[in-house]
Amino acid sequence: MLTAEIIAVGSELLTPRSRDTNSHYLTEELNAIGIRVVMKTVAGDTEEYLEHAVRGAMDRTPVVITTGGLGPTEDDITRKVVSTVTRRPLVLDDDILNGLKRRFASRGIDMPVNNARQALVPTGADPLSNPAGTAPGLWIEDESNTVILLPGPPAELKSIFERECRPRLIRKSGPAVLVRRVYRTTGLPESTVDQHIAPIYSQYTNPETTLLARPGQVDVHLAAHGKTEAEAEALLSELGARIEDELGEHVFATDLREMEEVVGLYLIMKRATISVAESCTGGLVAERLTRVPGSSRYFTTGLVTYSNASKVDLVGIPPLLVQMGGAVSREVAVNLAESVRRREGTTIGVGVTGVAGPDGGSEDKPVGTVHIAVAGPDSTEHREFLFPGSRERVRWQSSQAALDMVRRLLATF
Ligand code: ATP
Ligand code: MG
Repeated sequence: MLTAEIIAVGSELLTPRSRDTNSHYLTEELNAIGIRVVMKTVAGDTEEYLEHAVRGAMDRTPVVITTGGLGPTEDDITRKVVSTVTRRPLVLDDDILNGLKRRFASRGIDMPVNNARQALVPTGADPLSNPAGTAPGLWIEDESNTVILLPGPPAELKSIFERECRPRLIRKSGPAVLVRRVYRTTGLPESTVDQHIAPIYSQYTNPETTLLARPGQVDVHLAAHGKTEAEAEALLSELGARIEDELGEHVFATDLREMEEVVGLYLIMKRATISVAESCTGGLVAERLTRVPGSSRYFTTGLVTYSNASKVDLVGIPPLLVQMGGAVSREVAVNLAESVRRREGTTIGVGVTGVAGPDGGSEDKPVGTVHIAVAGPDSTEHREFLFPGSRERVRWQSSQAALDMVRRLLATF
């Protein structure tokens, strides 16, 4: 598979004031035509460092694309540096010069002397016309490398890439498509997911597998390339099926849906309704469920029963229960779930109670202790968790676990 590197040129890109969006655009476009981007560099406007970047990239990778630094000013150094590295002296390109002169003439102004610099090209470079701006892009075939110089302004870069670069690159890489699939999992830490599936995915270089972890969720990304979409999809399906088999019901989505969307689909499919009574998550479970358009079809009520009194008053759990065992217990979670379900007349009731921290933990109930119960028509599931991390993470993981318990219960309906 053909590989590429991108070098974004511009000192401002090293600061928080400016973002290198060009390389994101290029990466998407290159991936789409089956060219893999293996490295990106951001280089300031210093010849010495840019030389290192260009030389290194050309040593490693066949296709090297630079963006920016092609303008008419002193600090636009890309063409000079590429000329040095490729040992191709800068020569004046008459066509470019005439084009620049015409462009200025059409606006009724004399061309500033500086702009003539933009007509200097490394010997043998092929200009890529830039209808949106003054500086043309440049295409250089240099022994085993293709070096492509594109201007910094995103609109100019895009129009040159689309018109000039994409067709040529497709000819170079041959027919190739890249397709992706994501298996979203929950309930297992990243290292455990990897232990399970590394023995499988390490047998494949195509598809390529990457794990991405966020709180309460590990996504397994597969990217496959092939000559046709069908070929690439077949590769994805083969490895994907093995991964899904291994991770079993920890996989909750294979189509980039969020947990709350998956739960929503299940609720619709099973014609079920849901209500929630939450303590430590402060309404997060209800918020996530109602994020999904159309959730009024299955979501009836979310109660935030934060104080002991509200657990008693709003959901009707027995006062003795909170007095005896404290608000964070199996019994309270189960009672919240069963009571809210009964009161609201829903198929499913959810109860969440825990210690989100940072204070309020004790020896037998440390910060991160969370009890979650999901009551259904026939039974109530309860689980106790000990979630690591900040208050925010504990709350988020609690909501994820609660939704996942609902998903698993609905799967048995
Ligand atoms: P110009 O002729 O406009 O000077 P140039 O090729 O010299 O073009 P730069 O001077 O490097 O390009 O950048 C011009 C403008 O393009 C920057 O001010 C910035 O707004 C935008 N730009 C440059 N590089 C990037 C990038 N990597 N991602 C997004 N925008 C960029
Ligand atoms: Mg510039």
